[in-house]
Amino acid sequence: MKIHEYQGKEILKKFNVAVPKGEVAFSIDDAVKAAEKIGGSVWVVKAQIHAGGRGKGGGVKLARSLEEVREIAGEMIGMRLVTHQTGPEGRIVRRLLIEQGVNIEREMYVGITLDRARSQDVVMVSTEGGVEIEKVAAETPEKILKEAVDPGVGLQAFQARRLCFGLGLSGDAFKNAVSFLLAVYKAYDASDASLAEINPLVITKEGHVLALDAKINFDDNALYRHKEYEALRDIDEEDPLEVEASASNLNYIKLDGNVGCMVNGAGLAMATMDIIKLAGGMPANFLDVGGGASATTVEAGFKIILKDPNVRAILINIFGGIVRCDRVATGVVEAAKKVDVQVPIVIRLAGTNAELAAEILEKSGLKFLVASTLKEAAEKVTRAIAA
Ligand code: ADP
Ligand code: MG
Repeated sequence: MKIHEYQGKEILKKFNVAVPKGEVAFSIDDAVKAAEKIGGSVWVVKAQIHAGGRGKGGGVKLARSLEEVREIAGEMIGMRLVTHQTGPEGRIVRRLLIEQGVNIEREMYVGITLDRARSQDVVMVSTEGGVEIEKVAAETPEKILKEAVDPGVGLQAFQARRLCFGLGLSGDAFKNAVSFLLAVYKAYDASDASLAEINPLVITKEGHVLALDAKINFDDNALYRHKEYEALRDIDEEDPLEVEASASNLNYIKLDGNVGCMVNGAGLAMATMDIIKLAGGMPANFLDVGGGASATTVEAGFKIILKDPNVRAILINIFGGIVRCDRVATGVVEAAKKVDVQVPIVIRLAGTNAELAAEILEKSGLKFLVASTLKEAAEKVTRAIAA
């Protein structure tokens, strides 16, 4: 689960990570009030969307008076902000973060995430802050310093010091940065985050170390341990089909292709996507209806796939182990009858009651292309699109 910058900063603050003074605003008046409350004479108005690159896209602006805050907030709220992370369709800005303007001396990068190859969390820092870290990683990987964290003991002070030496820090800035890194790691660990990225982390002219940006993603599998994070969800930022799917307890991820997939079990879903690609097609989604899928869940999944305008054919690949194939077939037929299906549907059902399922599909009077192997199914569905 992703959250907004201002929410990430609230969490960081609880773990003693220094952040600039700031307030969220949902309207122009709120924005001006927030600036008054923060005080000072320079503010930064920041669009809150679940994507980075806002600075370059016009979503981070400096204001030198309350009138300017009003003016910029007026332009930003409701705007369609396009950044290199939003895709060309951009995102509508509905919330702003009004923040104290900070006197930046140096911008650096800090990121913590799980390194799956090492099975350890890795703390990364770089002197190249404020820019796209992907670019640094691709062009000058030596500029990213890393420390792997032993899960038994957490990030150690000597590791934080090693990273800060690597950043070329000294004096107060060094000391502050060491505490900062240890605090960010604590926040990451305690909130069960899958990513904590501070880009940029800045040293101010006054020698303070502050998180100027914050991106925190939570591990969805650990959300049950943090009921309070539920309130941080902003469904305006999520794909509407994914929201609908999660309401039906379906694991659905929208992708860019045109072959809608409905599969039971995450492993089979992955294999199905792979074989579609192998056959020359592109999956439109990942959808795992779950091991114990009922006719109702199948119907819900089917409807969601059909709502994706990119879908030009559907591949249903179900192994009837826990769920019986006839139940799946009934769900598919019911859903197909309710929704006006305009695209070819290839079905492969294997396992318990597969014959009965084939009969149900046949008797339905609907046109399904039936396949017996996974390979055949993938080839049929890609051919159906090409036709
Ligand atoms: P994004 O990564 O989406 O572009 P950031 O929050 O990193 O957004 O902001 C972009 C740039 O704007 C930062 O690199 C920094 O130079 C500047 N900036 C952001 N917040 C402040 C602030 N409170 N005071 C001064 N400059 C800021
Ligand atoms: Mg940033």
